[in-house]
Amino acid sequence: MNILVSACLLGIPCRYDGSDKEILDVVNLKEKHNLIPICPEELGGLTTPRDPSEIRDGKVYSKMGIDVTKEFEAGARKILEIAKEYHCELAILKERSPSCGYGKVYDGTFQGKLVDGSGKAAELLAKEGIKVIGESKVKDLSL
Ligand code: SF4
Repeated sequence: MNILVSACLLGIPCRYDGSDKEILDVVNLKEKHNLIPICPEELGGLTTPRDPSEIRDGKVYSKMGIDVTKEFEAGARKILEIAKEYHCELAILKERSPSCGYGKVYDGTFQGKLVDGSGKAAELLAKEGIKVIGESKVKDLSL
């Protein structure tokens, strides 16, 4: 199966601070599946490292107050193109990210508070019928 995966979960250092968030349960899926690493923020044109961002009122702002909604939405559209090209029905995306988070994201105050909602890429993929799960749910998958 072709599975889209947040690149940072596979050990690629594409997070805002130049780090990764490798999760072995996710990496190990490569034994049986074709994992396709994607980073919507980089594909939307943002640099690594970059200022961290959060969603507020449907828009995305960096911690310095710059509106980066356009870049986040461009990245989301590119991820969707990749998902379609590879006929992906499942995406495993990094929880709480303003791009990749599904179901819960930070509230836009940069104080670590979570609210209901999804990141721009996760939201678009789910809207297009692709199943999105976070890394903590990988153990429950029967693939
Ligand atoms: Fe990871 Fe997604 Fe953030 Fe890229 S945009 S660093 S893949 S959580």
